[in-house]
Amino acid sequence: MPPAFDPATREALLARVRFYRDLGLTEFYRRPVDPALQAQLEAMPEQPETLGAPSIPRPSAEWVGKQESQSSSVPDSSPQENPAIAPRKPIFTPPAQPAIIPAADRAAALQLIREDIGDCTRCALHAGRNKIVFGDGSPNARLFFVGEGPGADEDAQGIPFVGKAGQLLNNMINAMGLKREEVYIANVVKCRPPGNRTPEPEEGNTCSPFLFRQIDVIRPQVIVALGATAATYLLGQRQPLAGLRGRVHAWRGSQLIVTYHPAFLLRDPRQKKEAWADLQIAMRELGLKPPAKG
Ligand code: URA
Repeated sequence: MPPAFDPATREALLARVRFYRDLGLTEFYRRPVDPALQAQLEAMPEQPETLGAPSIPRPSAEWVGKQESQSSSVPDSSPQENPAIAPRKPIFTPPAQPAIIPAADRAAALQLIREDIGDCTRCALHAGRNKIVFGDGSPNARLFFVGEGPGADEDAQGIPFVGKAGQLLNNMINAMGLKREEVYIANVVKCRPPGNRTPEPEEGNTCSPFLFRQIDVIRPQVIVALGATAATYLLGQRQPLAGLRGRVHAWRGSQLIVTYHPAFLLRDPRQKKEAWADLQIAMRELGLKPPAKG
C-alpha cells in the first residue's frame, strides 16, 4: 500500500515534483523497497520535513519585486500549476482553420460560440460550477492569453483572471505596455475544476475546441500559454515547460509563447524573471517596447 502522507508533506512532495518538472525532469521511478527497511521506517516516529525547491538567486525585474511579498500567501482559490502529473491520454487535435472573419464581425462570432456553449453539461465540471467563464477582452486583440481554468473568484464573477493570479496577470500585461482591455484572455476549460485541480483529459478535450474557435475568430498575432496545461492543449502534446519556454512556436498562423502560470509565480516569485524574459519575446513579436519608467 502507498504511504499516507499528512497534507503538509504531500504538498511539499508535490512542490518538489513540480519543481523537477519545470527543470524538464518528468520521468520518475521508485526503487524496490527492502521489506526490512520498510518495517524499520514504519516503526520510526513521524518527523516534519521540508521538501521545498532548492533556492535560486533572486530576480531583479520591476513587477517581480512588487509581488515578492505574496509568495507565502497564495490564496486557496488560485489554481495549481499542475498539482499532479497528468495521465498520458490523447489530446484533442483542432480541425483546419476556417476563413478569416472580418474585424467588424468578430464580436458577433464570439457571441455565437458562447451561444453554442449554452448552459453546458458536456463534461463533469458543469456540476460544480457557478458561472461559465467564457473569455474577456478585445475581439480584435493582437495578443491572446490562455490559462488553465477558472478559480473561485472567476467562477463567482464569470470573468477569467480576476483573483490574485489575475492581479499579477494584469501587472504583467501593463508591464508590456498594454491595457487588459486590449488583449483577450480565455481558459482551456470554462468551468471551475473542483478544488482548482488540473482539468482531467476528458474535460480539457471536451472544452478546448471552444477555445480553438475563439482563437480562430480573433486570429491573434501572439498567443501566450500560461502554464503547462495551456501549453499541452494548444500544442497537442505533453512536454515539460522547461523545453517549451524561451522561444517562439509557429501555431495556426500565430506566434505561440509558453510561460509560467501567474498562480505558479505567486508561489515561486523567483521564477518571475524567467516569465518576464518570455513576455519580452512576445513584445518583440508584437513590436512593443516596455513603457518608460516614471
Ligand atoms: N487561473 C486560470 O488559469 N484561469 C483563470 O481564469 C484564473 C486563474
